Amino acid sequence: MNVPLLDVNAQNHPIGDELRAAFDSVLSTGRFIMGEEVEKFEASAAQYLGVKHAVGVSSGTDAILLALMALGIGQGDEVICPSFTFFATAGCISRTGATPVFCDSHLDSYNIDFDSAESCVTERTKAIIPVHLFGQSADMDACQVFAKKHDLIVIEDTAQSMGARYGSQYCGSIGDFGTYSFFPSKNLGGLGDGGLLVTQDDALAETAIKMRNHGMHPRYYHQLVGGNFRLDALQAALLNVKFAHYADYISGRQNNAAYYLEQLQGLPGLVLPSVEQGNEHIWNQFTIRVLDGKRDAFKQALLDDGIGCEIYYPVPMHQQQCFADVVNHEQSTCTNTELLAKEVISIPVYPELKRAQQDIVIDAMRAFFK
Ligand SMILES: *Cc1c(COP(=O)(O)O)cnc(C)c1O
Repeated sequence: MNVPLLDVNAQNHPIGDELRAAFDSVLSTGRFIMGEEVEKFEASAAQYLGVKHAVGVSSGTDAILLALMALGIGQGDEVICPSFTFFATAGCISRTGATPVFCDSHLDSYNIDFDSAESCVTERTKAIIPVHLFGQSADMDACQVFAKKHDLIVIEDTAQSMGARYGSQYCGSIGDFGTYSFFPSKNLGGLGDGGLLVTQDDALAETAIKMRNHGMHPRYYHQLVGGNFRLDALQAALLNVKFAHYADYISGRQNNAAYYLEQLQGLPGLVLPSVEQGNEHIWNQFTIRVLDGKRDAFKQALLDDGIGCEIYYPVPMHQQQCFADVVNHEQSTCTNTELLAKEVISIPVYPELKRAQQDIVIDAMRAFFK
């Protein structure tokens, strides 16, 4: 039996009739841009996350870009983000004309280390983008203290953690803006690209909503330069169907992660992911560390056994070619990040993964780490 890293068909095919009905409904209205389905999705997301404003957008990347644009961040500004993240976090900072400044992450939670962020602050620093990586919240108390101390805006990159909690609060609802992605591999996986931007601030929401549609208000009067960051009606309709099942998708991942954590304890050379106290982890990825330089051999062993796995992420942002000119190596050192890039690997944890498939993964791991 093959064990894929992710099986979107196992999630979407059982609700195929619901999805097709949603498609037919949009097809029959003939309204494909914005409209009721988008509004319905925004309202349910806002209620779920406990936020005042939820703005459907075209992708998780565009959500970050739109947040930065709505905050007026641009040339001459610096924005701090972890080096250990997906490219979009850093790429959006650059696209506004601002400079990304990369800080280190913790080895246990894989999340941003706010102590390391201290050395990144200059008089140009305007904002910080903590990333809730792999389904677990960053340390948001430390984030708030840090942001307050340096008078910084906070944008939470919650692409991998919609529904994860920090204490009683949902990730993405704590900072000035929270951004989410519905890329098919995220916990709420769409059938294409999609994203969401949330905020508790009325004025920021108003600006973001205008900028989502070319800064236009009223029609053909442009007060601001925005872009086309709109969410499709079709995608919103499909997301409305999937959102109704979201609690099951999350608990499926949580059950699978709990089984791994129980079955894989104490294997030499393997570091299991840790859940920080007070966090509810939603396991977008189950990411382990393989010690002693054996990560690539371990990856090959899994692939030889027909087990899907992936390295998120092999090249830290501060070592990316496109940022060679902006990285100030005196300002930030990212030693943990460099180690993580060599040691991490993610194994299948998707909700529809069967126990028998998990046992195959577990057996392969016991055979490797002995
Ligand atoms: C997926 C992801 C994004 C980008 O989301 P898209 O919808 O693919 O544009 C941004 N940040 C992180 C951390 C992600 O994992």
